[in-house]
Amino acid sequence: MSLIDKIAEAGVVGAGGAGFPTHVKYGAEAEYFIINGAECEPLLMTDKFLMRSFAAEILEAIDEVAKIVGADKVVFALKKKYTEELACLKRIRDENNYDIEFFLMESYYPAGDEQVMVYEITGRTVPEGGIPLHVGAVVSNVGTLYNVYRAIRADKAVTDKYVSVLAEVNKPRIVKVPIGTSINECIEAAGGSTLDEYAVIIGGPMMGENLVEEEAINQAVITKTAGSIIILPKKQFVIEMNQQSMEHIKNKAEAACIQCTFCTEYCPRYLIGHENLEPHRIMRALAYEKEDNTDIFKTAQLCCECGICELYACPMGLSPRLVNVYYKQKIDEKYETDKDEFKPHIMQEYRKIPTDRQIARLNLSKYNHQELHEPVEIEVDKVKIPLNQHIGAPAELIVSEGQTVERGQKIAKIRENALGANIHASISGKVIKADDNQVIISGSAEVVS
Ligand code: SF4
Ligand code: SF4
Repeated sequence: MSLIDKIAEAGVVGAGGAGFPTHVKYGAEAEYFIINGAECEPLLMTDKFLMRSFAAEILEAIDEVAKIVGADKVVFALKKKYTEELACLKRIRDENNYDIEFFLMESYYPAGDEQVMVYEITGRTVPEGGIPLHVGAVVSNVGTLYNVYRAIRADKAVTDKYVSVLAEVNKPRIVKVPIGTSINECIEAAGGSTLDEYAVIIGGPMMGENLVEEEAINQAVITKTAGSIIILPKKQFVIEMNQQSMEHIKNKAEAACIQCTFCTEYCPRYLIGHENLEPHRIMRALAYEKEDNTDIFKTAQLCCECGICELYACPMGLSPRLVNVYYKQKIDEKYETDKDEFKPHIMQEYRKIPTDRQIARLNLSKYNHQELHEPVEIEVDKVKIPLNQHIGAPAELIVSEGQTVERGQKIAKIRENALGANIHASISGKVIKADDNQVIISGSAEVVS
């Protein structure tokens, strides 16, 4: 089996973002292979843990992938301040003579946005609506590469996830859990919450998914892309910003948008040269135009949802990012540009947001640099595994209710001629529910062989 086939078989997807199937990404040739170890979302700890704990595995995978994509240049990007992680990685690189260069970034947000990273390393702007491959780059996150290592060296499927459980918990820590483990069990593994009532962010505070209702928290599970859980009071600034209705957001834009253009001036995608992404114009159209102005709202597709416009730049507390998310879903017509040259803004270098300042703006400073307890691995009796944990079509179910499965066994496969990823059982046990959305496995002792 080729290495690409092994990666596909194991169900590896981008671990740090939306879950693009990795075997498809590595099917292209690229001049640059860039490894994203920036972990730029405030507070998160998982990628740093992986770089410290699995430096040898990650670098071995990088060396193989660089050959697969035919990269001339292999660049590992991480922050200058990650000195311990850098020392681990450098030692392994030097011992093995890997041809890997380190690119050290300042601590700013969003250093890990893949288009910002590609620009910083190559000096090339990915075209509006494009992907890094359009400028000769393939980018992978360190968590993805750890899974690639397991796939190509040990034929292991993606069955587990390392998750940072942070903020309002008694024992903030990294927890290793089977995919499909409930969020509540992760919180328990971190000593439980310090609060009686809380909200949960799955992912980072800038771009993560906010869960506020108890029912939503009870239903949520760890997926291949969920690398952290942040527990916060329900009245916390980030949580409240994300709870606003579109009606409320629109009313606020009408009443309070002063067209200062700060949202645009600080937008990292605008700054690398996507001149047609101007959130202040989208906000003006939202507030003052009676009909949907499709031409302007289509430009929302250029937004990477980093959140700088609303959680840092806007002096009036408005929500351009949520407006963009709304119009991305509402307008099917694809944004297209006839531009073929993209130049960075003259101020690009000077408008980077220091991470600590961003954390203070989010009112999260008390959780910055939380001391972590020892990492733990937990075993669970039941997992609920979604079949759409990746970009593309949901995987096609290949097990049925009542069937006994082994940990690592494929339970859903990539659909024919579709973009997608295989899904595997993360515990051994009996399938107690299987439909087009999910597979629930109960690991009760009597059915485990
Ligand atoms: S920063 Fe806020 S007030 Fe200024 S233009 Fe943007 S949305 Fe309007
Ligand atoms: S969320 Fe705002 S700042 Fe970030 S890319 Fe979108 S428009 Fe730009």
